[in-house]
Amino acid sequence: MKVRLLVVLFCGLLVGTAGAEEAKETQRTSDTQATTVTQAVCLTSETQLTTATKTVALTSGTQLTSVTKTVYLTFDDGPSEYTGRVLDTLKKYNVPATFFVCGNKSAEGIGLFKRMIAQGEAIGNHSFSHNAKNYKNVDDFMKDLNKQDDSLSSSTGLHTRIMRFPYGSNTTQVSQAQMRAVITAVVKAGYSYFDWTADAQDWKPGATKETVLKNIIHDTKADNRNFAIVLMHDTKKHSMEALPSIIEFFQKEGYRFEKLSPQSDTRRFTTIN
Ligand SMILES: [Zn+2]
Repeated sequence: MKVRLLVVLFCGLLVGTAGAEEAKETQRTSDTQATTVTQAVCLTSETQLTTATKTVALTSGTQLTSVTKTVYLTFDDGPSEYTGRVLDTLKKYNVPATFFVCGNKSAEGIGLFKRMIAQGEAIGNHSFSHNAKNYKNVDDFMKDLNKQDDSLSSSTGLHTRIMRFPYGSNTTQVSQAQMRAVITAVVKAGYSYFDWTADAQDWKPGATKETVLKNIIHDTKADNRNFAIVLMHDTKKHSMEALPSIIEFFQKEGYRFEKLSPQSDTRRFTTIN
C-alpha cells in the first residue's frame, strides 16, 4: 500500500514535471519562433533598406535625401474646363498634386481654386497674366505676381509662397541677366520657385495622351534624382486623359506622391546663388 502510494505520488510528480517542461518547451519554442521571425523581418527589411539606399545613392550620385523616391505632379496655367476632371482623377487615386495657377476671377475659376484647397492640393503662383513681356521689367513682373497673390487671397484666403515662372526660370524670352534680376526680386518677396524634371510636352502640336505618358516616362528614367517634378498643364486635354496611366506608372515604380511646399525638393534651371 505504501509502495503503491509512493508510485502514484512519483507518477503524479512526473506528470506534473512533464507538464511544466512541456509548457516551458512550448514557451521556448514560441520565443524562438518569435525571435527567428523578428530577426527574419529585421534582416529582410534591413536588406531591402540597404538595397533601396544603395539604389538611390548610386542613381542620385549626389544627395541622399530619402530612401523612397518622390513624385510631385504639377499642373500649370489653369484653371480650365479640364481642371475638374483632373481633380476627380487625383481624388479617385487618392494622390496629391500642385497647381501653378494664373488669374481667373470667374465663379467657376474661384470654385475650382476652393475645390483644390478643400481637396488638399497645393496651389502655386504662376503670375496673373502669364505674359512674357513682364520679364522685361522687374517691377512689371512683380506687379503681375502680386496681382495674382491678391486675387487668390481675396477669393480663397490663401497666400501661397511657392511659384513657377511662366516658361521656366531659364526662359530665353529675356537675357539671362534680366532673368536673374527677376528671380532675385521673386526670392526676396519670399517665394520658393520650382522648375521640373519631366516635361509632358502636352503643349506641342500633335500631342496625344500616349505621347504625354511616353515623354514623362522617358524624362523620369533619364533623370538620376530620387524625385520627379512632372510638368503638365490642366489646360490640355491630353494630360487630363493621360493622368490615370501617369499615376499608375509612378505607383508601379514605387514612388511616393507629394505636393510641393517651400521645403520640398526642387529643380531650378537658373539659380541666383
Ligand atoms: Zn505656364
